[in-house]
Amino acid sequence: MSSARAAAFKQQMIGAGFSLFRATGAHRLAARMTRGLGAILMFHHVRPWNGNAFAPNRLLEITPEYLSEVIDTLRSEGFEIVSLDEGLARLANPSHAAPFAVMTFDDGYRDNLQYAWPVLGAKNVPFTLYITTGFAEGVARLWWLELELAVRYLPHIELAIGGKNHVFDCRTLEEKAESFNRLYWLLRVQPEEEMLIAIEYLAQKADIDQRALTQSLCMNWDEILQMAADPLCTIGVHTLTHSMLAHRRIDFARHELFESRRIIESKLGKPATHLAWPVGDPASAGVREFKLAADLGFASAVTTRPGMLFPDHAQHLTALPRLSVNGNWQDRRYLEVLLTGAPFAVWNKGRRVNVG
Ligand SMILES: [Zn+2]
Repeated sequence: MSSARAAAFKQQMIGAGFSLFRATGAHRLAARMTRGLGAILMFHHVRPWNGNAFAPNRLLEITPEYLSEVIDTLRSEGFEIVSLDEGLARLANPSHAAPFAVMTFDDGYRDNLQYAWPVLGAKNVPFTLYITTGFAEGVARLWWLELELAVRYLPHIELAIGGKNHVFDCRTLEEKAESFNRLYWLLRVQPEEEMLIAIEYLAQKADIDQRALTQSLCMNWDEILQMAADPLCTIGVHTLTHSMLAHRRIDFARHELFESRRIIESKLGKPATHLAWPVGDPASAGVREFKLAADLGFASAVTTRPGMLFPDHAQHLTALPRLSVNGNWQDRRYLEVLLTGAPFAVWNKGRRVNVG
């Protein structure tokens, strides 16, 4: 099965799984076994929905109203929302009866300041922002958004990928959705440098100003420091260029981690010991990277591998799973099912710790 079809199939299975859990209540029964100590929740954009019919990256954004609902749902389901440091302390010493939740926001989007921060402040919710320094400086590339805009603007795309010519029709909404999906998965499995060159070519064809895109969406240092001054806020590291480090040579990966941390620490004037792996799936961060982060002295690193936290994760602090709050599923009933951990037990085939 192609990656694109596999992804579509997974979406269908997720939908079917949710319905089954809700119909049977099995997730409530399973929760005692599957919920573990708690979860690290993952967010990206928080902003009002723009209504675009073609929105292949919508999974990466939720509305401020839904963020508020997520917080209320966590609390009504018995979760205590704690800082990342407090969550890690509880992971090391699991003596609390209530499960905990940690709120994390990746990349450093300006909408986090505009829309998420007021909600978090009003509800007194601690949170972590993982900052990609190249985004803050307006130079690193939001390649997945460049690709979205290229497919939106171009009626037709011809592209050589992996030595083979591909043709993509992008006239209708359906064609755009299908072409984005195919392009995305064909490109993401290429070596990262080739993927970036291919998307650069498309961005130029579509007349996309890559720097303006990054600068319009990402917080600059003034804005980051404004949020960092909030006692509720922890600033974490998300590399220099948002690179899929497992694609790269070890020296490149080390430089990305070391240098981005150094820059953030010099801006903050205090240590930044927490990391989020860019993209964060097994193809982007694996055993070599987990060891590298531990060797560099990071106290924790989060992936995008799905899962709840169990005591055994204390031995794998640079490979922590997260619960993605997905913009395609903004419904508190789905979240309630996810928070039992039952779907993760199914997706991970019963494995609690997935660090390979
Ligand atoms: Zn990211």
